[in-house]
Amino acid sequence: MYITNITHLLDASAKMPEDVPDEARGLIDFLTQVIDTTTKNLPHTLTQTDIRCFEKGCSGMIKTAFRPDTEEIHWYCPDCEVDGLISGWQGTKWDNR
Ligand SMILES: [Zn+2]
Repeated sequence: MYITNITHLLDASAKMPEDVPDEARGLIDFLTQVIDTTTKNLPHTLTQTDIRCFEKGCSGMIKTAFRPDTEEIHWYCPDCEVDGLISGWQGTKWDNR
């Protein structure tokens, strides 16, 4: 499971704007899409999105849910079963609440 505090990731990428490896950039793009989509509806159960899995060779469509107790965003790929939790998304520019 990927446990991500998005503010740490954004801080890290802000400090090395040109040196961020493509892989990390891809992950940040993916996670910000997950935040953007999930905070529009805040579904409490895993709900299909139009976000494609970031794993190489996987074409799964990501499901996401909002956990009201911890305010974490849970995402899950039903194809390769990779999943993760995102915290620290509140107040970022992808927070659509
Ligand atoms: Zn996948």
